[in-house]
Amino acid sequence: MDGQPEETSGLLALRELALDLHWSWNHASDRLWRELDAETWETTGNPWGVLHTVSRSKTRALLAQSDFRQTIEALLKEKREAANESRWFQQAHPASPLKTVAYFSLEFMLTEALPIYSGGLGNVAGDQLKTASDLGVPVVGVGLLYSQGYFRQSIGRDGSQEALYPVNEPDQLPIQPLRSADGEWLRLQIDLPGCKLWIRTWEVQIGRLKLYLLDMNDPANPATYRCITSELYGGGPETRLMQEMILGMAGWQLLRTLGLEPQVCHLNEGHAAFAALERIRCFRVDHDVSFAEALAATRVGNVFTTHTAVAAGFDRFAPELITKYFRSYAENHLGIAIADFLALGRKDRNDDLEPFNMAYLAIRSSGAVNAVSALHGKVSRSLFQPLFPGWPTDDVPIGHVTNGIHVPTWDSVQSDALWTEAAGKDRWRGDLTGLETGILKLDIQQIWRMRNESRQNLCDRVRRQYLRQRVEDAEIGGGLDAAHGIFDPHALTLGFARRFATYKRPALLLRDPDRLVRILTDARHPVQLVLAGKAHPQDAEGQALIKAWNEFARRPELRSRLIFVRDYNMRQAEWLVQGVDVWINTPRRPWEASGTSGMKILANGGLNLSELDGWWAEAYEPEVGWAIGDGEEHGDDPTVDEAEADALYSLLEDVIVPEFYSRNQDGIPTRWIERVRESMASLAPRFSTNRTVREYAEKFYLPAAVAYEARSAEGGKVARELARWKQDLDRLWPHVRFGAVNTEEAEDTRLFSVEVYLGELPPEMVKVELYAEPMAGEKAFLAVMTGQDSGQGSYRYRASIPPNRPVSDFTPRIVPYHPLARLPLEDTRIAWQR
Ligand SMILES: *Cc1c(COP(=O)(O)O)cnc(C)c1O
Repeated sequence: MDGQPEETSGLLALRELALDLHWSWNHASDRLWRELDAETWETTGNPWGVLHTVSRSKTRALLAQSDFRQTIEALLKEKREAANESRWFQQAHPASPLKTVAYFSLEFMLTEALPIYSGGLGNVAGDQLKTASDLGVPVVGVGLLYSQGYFRQSIGRDGSQEALYPVNEPDQLPIQPLRSADGEWLRLQIDLPGCKLWIRTWEVQIGRLKLYLLDMNDPANPATYRCITSELYGGGPETRLMQEMILGMAGWQLLRTLGLEPQVCHLNEGHAAFAALERIRCFRVDHDVSFAEALAATRVGNVFTTHTAVAAGFDRFAPELITKYFRSYAENHLGIAIADFLALGRKDRNDDLEPFNMAYLAIRSSGAVNAVSALHGKVSRSLFQPLFPGWPTDDVPIGHVTNGIHVPTWDSVQSDALWTEAAGKDRWRGDLTGLETGILKLDIQQIWRMRNESRQNLCDRVRRQYLRQRVEDAEIGGGLDAAHGIFDPHALTLGFARRFATYKRPALLLRDPDRLVRILTDARHPVQLVLAGKAHPQDAEGQALIKAWNEFARRPELRSRLIFVRDYNMRQAEWLVQGVDVWINTPRRPWEASGTSGMKILANGGLNLSELDGWWAEAYEPEVGWAIGDGEEHGDDPTVDEAEADALYSLLEDVIVPEFYSRNQDGIPTRWIERVRESMASLAPRFSTNRTVREYAEKFYLPAAVAYEARSAEGGKVARELARWKQDLDRLWPHVRFGAVNTEEAEDTRLFSVEVYLGELPPEMVKVELYAEPMAGEKAFLAVMTGQDSGQGSYRYRASIPPNRPVSDFTPRIVPYHPLARLPLEDTRIAWQR
């Protein structure tokens, strides 16, 4: 900064701070933006927007104040130091071979100042990037910059949703064009059948790491193509396909252009799976190998996270569309026929009508696959079982990493203060040791005070929101008084906000409107409810539910007790999750893969009342909250909906409301606050992205990096060997068969034996296993059998079996084996003795 005029260096420093989204979870710079332009700061929360709006004279005046300057300099110094500091990852894995993880996602929810998200999926991606920065995990993100993002919501006079598409002006967004060293804007070209298109690139600073965004709105492109990246989840299948091509293929090319060579590629949902193909293409260019060899080399470096709990949720494309866009790419760049390409996205490669499923492609090109909660793991193993014909569902190679949320993004000022007192400032940057005990030591009064302040803050926000919505409805007049009496800072406050997708059953709570009115308007024990949510513009059913809630909200007796907050977005979610006492969630089990909004309330001292689905199915204990549902699946049985709605009301009437209003002599609901403390202590750390990202790093990224290095070394020597191994299997496997089965009683064990005919297939290339279905509540029985050569390709395999089950329970099976292969992911063959 030396040698520059004070003002210039001050401005540069402010720019640097404003462009680092670190401000979205660290509030040390808030006072700068507030002093520069309080109104823009309060309404947008966007420091970069503040810098664009504020006058030169105001900036100059502030930069002349020494404490203002000192804050800037201290923050800048901290930022520079943080960039190179050793964090959890460097300390826990000092000699790590992992250099770069590329995280691909169609949406990222980082801040409302960069609205390129729709909901939960973007939330997971955004919170994981922030945490990777906190923990020092070397991640770069890749996504799309949408000129209109996801639609915005207004509510019409009749209560129905209206979709709006305000433009994201790149100038106002806290991003920068990505420039090469000599200042040229880095643009990529892609070849489509018949034309070349420009893709612009942008960079976003997120603490220590970068997110790269791509868009097509380059004036050099034909108008139709400029609109490809306009809307998130808008447009038809062809638009979506092109978005996914840009994300995956151009995204991978960009990383290559930047000289980054990610060993690990994390595919957040099937949308991103084309990145795996581009990675194969590049590997072929570098090493002159076949498709099969390049696939074997690269796939172990790919991690695929599936977020969908129903088959209809997968992204699928018509075969004609795939053929149109990929024939030439497959033949000329991947070295495979289009039929083989289509087979990568199909269950049955011979079914010409079967659409191309992006999740299938992702599974077939990854070395590890995970779901996002324990229950979702089980659901996913069933969903993807058809890709593993003959394999028991439990053997389908899909594990789970339960989602979390980035606590520093979602906690309130008051809860942050309390946690700091209990567990220190750096509590979310380490391995969470000591957090639980720290919180358990907090006393009831402190927590109750925090809850009251947070609820008060929510009430203020609700009133402001109420006034804004009145302006939107052109109900002008009354001034600030119009909001008088709206919400009560002492009343039990419930929140229900989420996408209005049918499976979330957003109308369950409205099933008996009069009963709900009675709960809300009880004079002695008042209850208030904040609602919010958007329904996709193509989802008529979801929109009908929004209308129903808005009509309900207009009942005069509910005016002070219920508000439908319009245009549910990240800023509103922040004050909502910070202020509510109870967060309600009513998905239809098992459709909620994880859910994250309920996790956001944990650190803030809210409590969950939720269906036993997604994360809550593994988090719920009677001491920490309330559950509805019996932990079973019932489809869309209306009698079950009826019963669960009844349970919801009964819990509120008989348990929740009485407990909140049961006070000790100091007016504190002790039982309630003990429950809050238990939920904060035992759940907040467990369902934070701190835990999630450490789990990804240790269970997925590190092993993936090691495996990729091993397979790609020496020009892909191991990959070639594996490809050859598969070819040998293709040739020799068809001759494999079983002969006679026998049981031998030997001393006190029973030996099961079977004759196996392998022909020319070397016995090292297979494993013969003995399997029995699981008995109630147990795991399946599985034993590796040992073989004895009986000559001429024949072997007798033996294993001892437990005495408590009939011999007829046991079935031998033959599966391929290679010490370095990931099975059955990489080879799904299996032969059973029938
Ligand atoms: C957290 C969040 C979501 C995800 O919520 P779930 O209902 O748990 O899926 C969606 N939208 C916004 C704005 C959020 O903050």
